[in-house]
Amino acid sequence: MTSTTTLQGVGIGRGLAVGPVVRMPDPLPEPSDVASTITADAEKVRAAGALAATAADIRLRGEKAGGAAKDVLEAQAFMAEDPTLKDDVNARIDTGKTAERSVFEAFVQFRDLLISMGGYMGERATDLDDVSQRAVAHLQGVMAPGVPNPDHPFVLVARDLAPADTALLDLDKVLALITSDGGPTSHTAILAREKSIVAVVGTLGALSLGDGETVIVDASTGVVTVNPTDAEASATLATLAARASASDVPVGPGRLADGTAIPLLANLGAIDKLQDAVDKGAEGVGLFRTEFLFLDSNHAPTIEDQQAKYTALFAAFPGKKVVVRALDAGADKPLSFLNDEPEENPALGLRGLRALRAHESILRDQLTAIANAAAATRAEAWVMAPMVSTVEETRYFVSLAKELGLATAGVMVEVPASALLADRILADADFASIGTNDLTQYTLAADRLLGSVASFQDPWHPAVLRLVGEVGRAGAALGKPVGICGEAAADPMLAVVLVGLGATSLSMSPAALADVRAELSRFTKKQALEFAELALSANSAVEARAAVFAAATLSTTKPTESE
Ligand code: PEP
Ligand code: MG
Repeated sequence: MTSTTTLQGVGIGRGLAVGPVVRMPDPLPEPSDVASTITADAEKVRAAGALAATAADIRLRGEKAGGAAKDVLEAQAFMAEDPTLKDDVNARIDTGKTAERSVFEAFVQFRDLLISMGGYMGERATDLDDVSQRAVAHLQGVMAPGVPNPDHPFVLVARDLAPADTALLDLDKVLALITSDGGPTSHTAILAREKSIVAVVGTLGALSLGDGETVIVDASTGVVTVNPTDAEASATLATLAARASASDVPVGPGRLADGTAIPLLANLGAIDKLQDAVDKGAEGVGLFRTEFLFLDSNHAPTIEDQQAKYTALFAAFPGKKVVVRALDAGADKPLSFLNDEPEENPALGLRGLRALRAHESILRDQLTAIANAAAATRAEAWVMAPMVSTVEETRYFVSLAKELGLATAGVMVEVPASALLADRILADADFASIGTNDLTQYTLAADRLLGSVASFQDPWHPAVLRLVGEVGRAGAALGKPVGICGEAAADPMLAVVLVGLGATSLSMSPAALADVRAELSRFTKKQALEFAELALSANSAVEARAAVFAAATLSTTKPTESE
């Protein structure tokens, strides 16, 4: 008799799944360091051929997958074609090593460099491992280790998944994904979110799972239940069936059961996803992450370049609200033209509006590009500043935006200081948008990129909710909109709580819109207020979640009982 255990990781999205484990095969063994028996020139031809074939293969996978996967895989193909890497491989071959060994060693060196850079770059290290494995497999004439393909649905367990594999997962068969490595901003997580794959990443103990073991994967809590009881497995299946019928709620404006309108907006960071957001019923854009457009650029974008992009964005939402965030550079999203000094603690450094102020001409250009694009289109263009922590910063940004022709300027509330002084900040700003990802990180003092403190990164924490409530109250008193644009808005039950705390709109990844729309439609404003009170009076995130779920279950079963 096997006993039930649980593993904790970081959930991506809110999905739930139950099924048998299938383990990703182990990586290829390290090529041995024996001396080459052929000429260096012949080894160089082999290495160049393998790298070119690997780049072509990865590019083909990108073409097939489309969307964000295409960009990720294109970046990987470039890694295989990197001239510095090729020079390094050739230099190693010149010392008498084989092409296999030289490719392997050159990638290890490249990988170590990325890891030493940490943050966003460090999380790209896995991508390099995959390119290396594919090139070595090509040289050895063996299959690159890939996703297994059993003839039944399964939960895939891996150390981490390469973007090339994540992009092409057969979503009819892969019920969920569990990885032992990878943080919430790894490419695995980004692609899983985009493809709505149920995923828990950075799961301690994941590699102890064996083929065929049954697991329940709950991304909303990051918990993997191993060998669940029959009752637990059936309860999961019942929840899944209930969610499937909930997602039948027709695409339309977000509203509570009593008709209160809660506009549901999209979080976007690319121009090619606009139509998808419209199709999924986004009523506008609540957060356009402009820095995502320029992550690879080593110079500030021109007004013209930006204007073309913002024009495409606004044109997709005629008559609708589109909130463009000024470049949020720093920490895990460094932009070389804004973050020029290395920092010990970049999350607490010159990031967001602070970095923009240090380069005011870049901010002026961006606001000018947004204003020009807005003048040429029919969207209702709003702008907001990231990482605002003082009233003075609010005044600075709002007055600059107005000077440059933008009628509606607001701030993101991502720092506890701004939430605590929301009444004064909102006296100057036209609106507030709460970034719960950073607000949670700063409230709980837990780096949002670190798997080891992921359990603190929970927006259900009553301390975070109390801060959200402060902003909601200030917004209501001053008649100013308060949106939520962090991941918390994509958690259906938490979304109802956030409305109870005063959120007037919710913005999320388009993949989350249907579930949140369905959940809002189940409850009234009065219930949302009650749930908010329950969550606020809890002692922990776990207690808050449990109290609200219990109350919600009770209230939705009541009508059936009285029938
Ligand atoms: C947030 O911090 O919640 C937010 C929406 O901004 P980002 O995730 O881009 O930091
Ligand atoms: Mg943020």
